[in-house]
Amino acid sequence: MDFNLKPQERKFVEEVRAFLDAQAERPDAAEVMAPDRDAHSQLANSPERRAFNRRMAEQGYIGMSWPKEFGGQEIEGIYEYLLNEELALRGMPLIGKGVGCIGKTIIRHGSEAMKAEFLPKILAADIEFALGYSEPSSGSDLASLRLKAVRDGDEWVLNGQKVWTTSAHFADWYWVAARTDPDAPKHKGISVFLIPMDHPGLTVRETKTMGDHRTNEVFFDNVRVPADRLVGEENKGWTYVCEALDFERFTFYTVNPLLRKFERAVEALRTTNREGRPLSEDPVIRRDVARLATDLETAKMLQRRVVNEASKGRVPAVEAAMYKVFSTRLGQQLTDFVLDALGPTGLLRHGAQGAVDNGVWEHFYQTTPLDTIGGGTSEVQKNIIARRGLGLPLN
Ligand SMILES: Cc1cc2nc3c(=O)[nH]c(=O)nc-3n(C[C@H](O)[C@H](O)[C@H](O)COP(=O)(O)OP(=O)(O)OC[C@H]3O[C@@H](n4cnc5c(N)ncnc54)[C@H](O)[C@@H]3O)c2cc1C
Repeated sequence: MDFNLKPQERKFVEEVRAFLDAQAERPDAAEVMAPDRDAHSQLANSPERRAFNRRMAEQGYIGMSWPKEFGGQEIEGIYEYLLNEELALRGMPLIGKGVGCIGKTIIRHGSEAMKAEFLPKILAADIEFALGYSEPSSGSDLASLRLKAVRDGDEWVLNGQKVWTTSAHFADWYWVAARTDPDAPKHKGISVFLIPMDHPGLTVRETKTMGDHRTNEVFFDNVRVPADRLVGEENKGWTYVCEALDFERFTFYTVNPLLRKFERAVEALRTTNREGRPLSEDPVIRRDVARLATDLETAKMLQRRVVNEASKGRVPAVEAAMYKVFSTRLGQQLTDFVLDALGPTGLLRHGAQGAVDNGVWEHFYQTTPLDTIGGGTSEVQKNIIARRGLGLPLN
């Protein structure tokens, strides 16, 4: 069995590293690279991040797997995944939302006018998107969503509310799922719309969460959009949402940040003393860190199964669910372990005097639970494994 990358994939990774090394030398690098602050650069409006994304586009890293007729290079999705691993390692914004979920759905289902309007802007990294799926009563059971869209002549009128919309406070466009047929079965009455984020009638309100993660509620009050802002066919939105997730699943699930956290943990154990001796000499700590190292190898293997399935053109739904459940729980276990080992000083925050590794572990303690929720909770992933992997549907 050969788990190594192919020579052309390795060459690509080296090129990406060289590109990112050069970016790291720029005076504005700190604004786009935040390996200590999970997803920091993606959670605020940032001209530096936008400029960085444009440089990525100039480098040809945006839309690599798109068909050539739409400006892509038609290369395998594995390259986008490899790129994301390198970006994630340095805490840089991942590619995915625009080129993946949205761009690929427009390519497959959008009108010619929508393709002409959006695809070049996505390829040039000129626009940023927010995803409007979750609602106050619809998260895991997304198909029950209730944001109402009613046809009125040449327009649709939207009323209702979304929650947890990351980046709604600075994105340019809102990719929104709404109910267009309240009488149809729940999966068959949903459509997707593209709406400018500054559209009259849209109100964005901040929701603060753990780990300094800003997200938003978005309220729709008679938001009137032209009929051609509906993506693809009316009432086919559920298919598009699921398809987009299937396309992108493996590019989202990077393992490098977890490996990097583990390296930091080992370093913290080596360099932090208790009663005059490094923590790494404590037999209980040595036992636990060895167990975590073993689990980390398991996470790597689970992730390779995801990539392997996806690169063969199959949908890695079960493999991705297994990897997500396992790796996000491992992220929490690793953080719990380090905080237990460090004792009270581990709880000191970023910037506090005496904080170990500048408070990074306290920050990870707050952000790792989010990973077990976003993109489908652990319970939902386990349902996928039971239903699709083991053939155990709920009757
Ligand atoms: C960091 C982050 C960013 C996010 N960004 C976005 C975004 O940009 N756009 C967006 O639309 N949404 C976003 N979300 C929302 C996310 O998709 C939802 O939080 C998630 O789908 C869960 O939905 P919920 O919060 O409504 O919880 P619920 O679905 O209400 O779940 C509550 C609890 O019940 C459990 N549960 C639910 N159903 C079942 C079941 N069938 N079997 C067993 N247990 C079950 C869940 O696992 C959970 O523990 C984000 C969330 C996070 C954490």
